[in-house]
Amino acid sequence: MMSKWAHIISFGTRTGVSSEVLRSFSRNNRLFQSKEGLCSKRSMSIQSYRKCDVVVIGGGAVGASTAYWLKKRAKKDLSVIVLERDPTYKEASTVLSVGGVRQQFSLPENIQMSIFGAEFVQNSTKYLGDVDLCFRPHGYLVLASEKCAETLKENSKLQNELGARNELLSPSQLKQKFQWINTDDVALGCYGFEKEGWFDPWALLAGFRSQAKELGAHFLHGEVLDFGIPKSSDTLNSVKVLAKNNETCVVDFDICVLAAGARSGQIARQANIGNGSGTLSTPLPVEPRKRFVYVFTTQGENAPGPGTPLTVDLDGTYFRRDGMGSNFITGRSPNQHTEPAVNNLDVDHEFFETDIWPTLAKRCNAFESIKVCGSWAGYYEYNTFDENGIVGPHTFYKNLLIATGFSGHGIQQSPAVGRAISELILDGRFKSIDLSRLGFDRIASNRRMCESNIY
Ligand SMILES: Cc1cc2nc3c(=O)[nH]c(=O)nc-3n(C[C@H](O)[C@H](O)[C@H](O)COP(=O)(O)OP(=O)(O)OC[C@H]3O[C@@H](n4cnc5c(N)ncnc54)[C@H](O)[C@@H]3O)c2cc1C
Repeated sequence: MMSKWAHIISFGTRTGVSSEVLRSFSRNNRLFQSKEGLCSKRSMSIQSYRKCDVVVIGGGAVGASTAYWLKKRAKKDLSVIVLERDPTYKEASTVLSVGGVRQQFSLPENIQMSIFGAEFVQNSTKYLGDVDLCFRPHGYLVLASEKCAETLKENSKLQNELGARNELLSPSQLKQKFQWINTDDVALGCYGFEKEGWFDPWALLAGFRSQAKELGAHFLHGEVLDFGIPKSSDTLNSVKVLAKNNETCVVDFDICVLAAGARSGQIARQANIGNGSGTLSTPLPVEPRKRFVYVFTTQGENAPGPGTPLTVDLDGTYFRRDGMGSNFITGRSPNQHTEPAVNNLDVDHEFFETDIWPTLAKRCNAFESIKVCGSWAGYYEYNTFDENGIVGPHTFYKNLLIATGFSGHGIQQSPAVGRAISELILDGRFKSIDLSRLGFDRIASNRRMCESNIY
């Protein structure tokens, strides 16, 4: 039988969920009733949690943000469990990210989500209470060759129309503003002077988690292994979870949100997504792709100073200052023929020598002599279809919502994505930003939403 929530989801985009429906649903279905409310059960083990309204698979920035927005609005009327396989987050994209936020995208949805992301991190105390996200306001500087200058202009126009603030700079203007820059091969630059910069992704995750917990969400240590699917049904009704004591248990739910980052495609296969026929023949095209970050320092003259923007070079190599010393971080996505293996997070130092350093040295004389003093690698949750987030309902399972595939820009979009998923669940439609074009249905219907600014 279809659950009440599944019904709401299946008709969600047309009807929405009235607060009366929500209240009546929660009155009849409250799961962990106690005088003290939901928070009192926080310290119990996963075996104590057999049922919930919404289960979120993955407790990174996207999953934690979803739990935060759901509980912020629905409060005790909705029980939310977040299942996280590794509470140390040692391989999660969130904590290995470089925490950049920019408005310089080509798709309106990405621009709008990131404008909200910037607003959120700049005013984090309004949303998350006493938490310092260490936001550093610095523009992005995106450089373009003659061939790409027109696209840069068009993107900048759209970004400014949607509320971003950036300006186009000719090579001589670039030289005037940034004395360290070589502009021989540059035709145009776009410099953001508002709503861009970087922040501490760990702090954002911690803020989402602590607020969501305070509001009664349960973050549980457990790895989702499989789904319960009633025979011939178009709803999922439970997940089989491997708990930290190596026991397995089952958690029933009405709605499932898949926010498992780089592993999302693999988990979707457990629900036959991509293994079945008809609508189930389309896989969730999200897989891990390894990305390297290198930390370097320079003693060279005329090195980029503290006001230096995050600079994105013609080939996608980016660099920015890191901290108050003279450290910089840099990285770049490899081309599709040289994607590194993803079975570990080892760093390829040769990639720096052959692919990154030459670009840095060409752009700035002070980078001709640099010393690499650190490095790490992390996984992009890479959408092989069009390198963009997949946000919204699955086309077959009526109670499955997907929030993954951001391919390198998900940390800044996590506030908007969590809010969007909460709107789908509580209102039955997107209210703040219309993300319908980013739904899973675009994959089955082969409608790419390509973003030209992916690094
Ligand atoms: C090097 C690097 C630099 C980046 N720089 C930026 C940047 O500057 N700006 C930006 O916006 N984005 C950036 N990103 C991308 C950003 O980090 C991601 O898009 C974002 O963190 C994705 O969040 P998430 O919650 O979806 O994934 P994650 O943080 O990976 O969280 C998913 C969670 O799901 C859990 N999980 C997986 N499988 C299961 C299971 N079976 N059961 C239970 N839990 C499970 C995982 O343990 C993980 O904790 C960068 C990424 C990398 C790697």
